[in-house]
Amino acid sequence: MGASSTDVLFTPVPSCIVRLSDIAYNYWWAWNPSATDLFRRVDPSLWEEIYHNPIQFLRNVRQKNLTAASNDAQWVADYDTVVAAFDAYMANSQTWFKRTYPTQKASIAYFSAEFGIHESLPIYSGGLGILAGDHVKEASDLDLPFVAVGFIYPQGYFRQRLDHSGWQEAVNTKMSFADIAAFPARTPNGDEVVVEVELPGRTIYAKVYTLHIGRVVLYLMDTDIHPNSPSDRELSARLYGGDHDMRVAQELVLGVGGVRALRQLGIAPTVWHMNEGHSAFLVLELARELVAKGVPFMQAFEQVKAQAVFTTHTPVPAGNDAFSLDLIDKYFARYWDKLGISRDEFMNIAMQQQSWGPSFAMTVLALRLSQMHNGVSKLHGEVARSMWQWLYPGATQDEVPITSVTNGVHSASWLAPKMNELYTSVLGKDWYDHLDEPALWEALTKSDDATFWQSRMHLKNILVQFVRERLAQRHTRLGSPPVAWPIFDNNTLTIGFARRFATYKRATLLFKDADRLKAILNNPERPIQMVFAGKAHPADEPGKHFIQDVYRRSQESGFAGKIVFLEEYDMCVARALVQGVDVWLNTPRRPYEASGTSGQKASLNGIPNLSILDGWWPEAYTGTNGWAIGDERHYDNLDEQDWNDAQHLYHLLEQEVAPAYYDRNADGVSARWVAISKAAIATCAPQFSTRRMLKEYVNRLYLKVSK
Ligand SMILES: *Cc1c(COP(=O)(O)O)cnc(C)c1O
Repeated sequence: MGASSTDVLFTPVPSCIVRLSDIAYNYWWAWNPSATDLFRRVDPSLWEEIYHNPIQFLRNVRQKNLTAASNDAQWVADYDTVVAAFDAYMANSQTWFKRTYPTQKASIAYFSAEFGIHESLPIYSGGLGILAGDHVKEASDLDLPFVAVGFIYPQGYFRQRLDHSGWQEAVNTKMSFADIAAFPARTPNGDEVVVEVELPGRTIYAKVYTLHIGRVVLYLMDTDIHPNSPSDRELSARLYGGDHDMRVAQELVLGVGGVRALRQLGIAPTVWHMNEGHSAFLVLELARELVAKGVPFMQAFEQVKAQAVFTTHTPVPAGNDAFSLDLIDKYFARYWDKLGISRDEFMNIAMQQQSWGPSFAMTVLALRLSQMHNGVSKLHGEVARSMWQWLYPGATQDEVPITSVTNGVHSASWLAPKMNELYTSVLGKDWYDHLDEPALWEALTKSDDATFWQSRMHLKNILVQFVRERLAQRHTRLGSPPVAWPIFDNNTLTIGFARRFATYKRATLLFKDADRLKAILNNPERPIQMVFAGKAHPADEPGKHFIQDVYRRSQESGFAGKIVFLEEYDMCVARALVQGVDVWLNTPRRPYEASGTSGQKASLNGIPNLSILDGWWPEAYTGTNGWAIGDERHYDNLDEQDWNDAQHLYHLLEQEVAPAYYDRNADGVSARWVAISKAAIATCAPQFSTRRMLKEYVNRLYLKVSK
């Protein structure tokens, strides 16, 4: 690896710290804050300027800063510690998978349209991508025989800016490959991997890159290469850009091209995991391979199915990808011949009636051609069984073979260093190895309240600073004068709300009765402040209006200084929020939140959830580890649902949340609050971690299908 790093022009690294480039070229650094800290300390302002990207940092850092670091005894000692930790991680042979399944020969391939690894690699848009990134990182921690496949999207997902009126603007910038920790992938013979996929009237080429995520590899494809036509070069330029036509082409490259990439790499998966339906064309390619070898289609169908796992994430019917038959005719006209079936037989594999007519539905394709399928929380499993019951004639809803594996979060990626310090002192040095064992966390419940409170306050101070800096940056950019009112207060109860501004998430529910909310936030004894963040899909006009509504509220008298909207919700903003606020608010319209994971990140850091009983929360809520808004009844009248949920939310803020937070003892500590906060950690950290989640995928799904 060291050799390849000389391909790009790095500032020469003093010989005593040359391993810095090895660290930069493995995304292991992304979940090891002591590693990112090394880079930051060399030149803090450069680190912010290049937005936390170690490769770009090493290309741009000044020689004198590196030399100074290499002469700083403390820095060098920390460098040695980080390098030793990295080497120990990579060399560890006592990993969970090796210990548990010493003779298992499985090989897992995980396909996803997006991966949230780190803010410096913006190839994710929201929860789906973050989950995929966390899945890959945990696959590394558990040392699974695992590879992941996706797109590199040189222009990433858009960056969000709000104009003077709070209207969302989308900014796209192009990444330079020299700034990404990616190597051209190579075949066993040493050739670069370029795959070909037939599109109508042409062949498209995709070059494959290797990214090291700890012990596992993420392969990302890029179509911006010669000899593709300009429009094909744009195909993978942006995440979720383009129209339906481009979407089919993109998904063809992901599914079909992805299989071909693994073949060229000499990888022979025994498990094919489709994370959402975007990659489902891969099953057609696997069937085509078998038919080409002489296997009859029906038998090929069964063989492919026997190796495939599919995770559905979308309880909103419109959120499931489905294409018109015209489009499928255009893109697959020659494909059914290769499968040895007719057009009608082909269409019937994935046919779903939509309000606009018959469609070829990716979820149907994936469900039909996978042996194991799951939703992402218990409640979502139920919703999915009811949504897809029509596919299983004769089965009662309970018999529909869609199970659930509840999502979790990669703890090391989301845990604040300050809380890590606390857990290490209370739970022991090796707590991370045991984090999914509920008994481990009991010791925390009995730990010192004042120390716990101070750790939380320390993190809140960091957040308040972060909020002020981000707002100041926006004011500078817009050329507007600094605001007259004080922004945020270190001692005020702070509520966080950050998520995609999809309308079902109801970001504006809180403003149903704005006067009541003003009274709650401005209560002199028990004040509250709020921070919002989130992007709307560029084509989602109602979502953009929600953002503008929240922004306008934040400027209104009574809310100004108490409610802020932060631009550009990404993994960096997410970390600041899920580590720094006091309460995490979630108000989706039940039952449209498949799981939700941001609340799990918050709980892990000791931030209790105040949430609708949707997604993961009904499984986690115990009555003492946070608050439940509303109940589990079903509403036919959505206005009634919104009204009731809002009323209950106000009631909880007034009667439960604020009183608990401000119930201080002589030392300024609220024992009541600390108990809730510790309960949030003890009940959620083990259960809603990717550690527990991935072991479930392995034990219940992967090894069931792997032969
Ligand atoms: C965790 C996370 C999400 C997903 O959060 P939900 O609770 O599912 O809404 C989305 N975006 C970012 C940047 C995240 O870190």
